[in-house]
Amino acid sequence: MQRGEQLYSGKAKTVYVTDDQNKLILHFRNDTSAFDGTKVAQLDRKGKVNNKFNAFIMRKLEQAGVKTHFESLLSDDESIVKRLDMLPLECVVRNIAAGSICKRYGIEEGIDLKPATFEFFLKDDPLHDPLVNEYHIRAFGWATEIEIVEMKQITFRVNEVLTELFAAGQMLLVDFKLEFGRYRGALLLGDEFTPDGCRVWDDKTREKLDKDRFRRDLGGVVEAYEQVAKRLGVPLD
Ligand code: C5P
Repeated sequence: MQRGEQLYSGKAKTVYVTDDQNKLILHFRNDTSAFDGTKVAQLDRKGKVNNKFNAFIMRKLEQAGVKTHFESLLSDDESIVKRLDMLPLECVVRNIAAGSICKRYGIEEGIDLKPATFEFFLKDDPLHDPLVNEYHIRAFGWATEIEIVEMKQITFRVNEVLTELFAAGQMLLVDFKLEFGRYRGALLLGDEFTPDGCRVWDDKTREKLDKDRFRRDLGGVVEAYEQVAKRLGVPLD
C-alpha cells in the first residue's frame, strides 16, 4: 500500500490517503495532548503502543460482531483503515464516575454508575466539545435517527465486550469514547480505542492506567499503557 498525501493531522494521529480511494493510513504519533490541545508532550513509544493496542481491540470487537474501519497493521506505528465519512460526534459510556461527569454534576470520583450512562458530545475543540442531546443532533443534522439508535446500541455492545476483556486482566473499564462514520450505507466504528480515549483502573488498587496519568502529571504514562497492553495480551513487538 502506497502512502499518499496527508489528509488530516490531529492531536495524536496523522491520516494519509493511499492508492486505494477507499483506504486510509493512520499514523499514531508520539504526541499527546489534553484539555483541548492546551497541554501537549512527546512520549517515547506511545505511537507504537497505541497502534498495536488499537489493532488488538478492533480485532476483538470484530470477532464479537462489531463492524469497524480497521483493516490491518502496516508498520509499528501505522495501520490501514477504511475511509469513513465521520460523524462529528463522540459517544461516551461510563461505568464508574470520573472526569467531566464528576465536575458537571458534583459527583465523587469512583462511584459505580448503574446503569452505565451514555453521552453524546459534539466534536469541536474551539467550543470545548460540548455535551449535546438527541434533539440537537436531529435539529442540526449531525446524524440520522437510525444512526443515533445504532451509535447507542454499538457503544453499549462495545462496553459489554471490553468490560469483560479488561476484567480478565484485573482491570476496571471506567469509561471510554467512540467515534463512528459512514461507509457504503453502513455505520462503522472509526477512530481508535487506546488508553488515550478511555479510563482504566487496576481493579484492586484503583491505580489509574490511562491518559489521566498525563492529565494529572502522575508520570509513567506510556509505562501504564504498556502495563494495560501486557495484561490484555497485546503483542507489542
Ligand atoms: O472528559 P470526560 O470525562 O468527558 O471523558 C470521558 C472519556 O472519554 C474518557 O475516557 C476520555 O479519555 C474520553 N475522551 C476522549 N476524547 C475527548 C473527550 C473524552 O477520548 N475529546
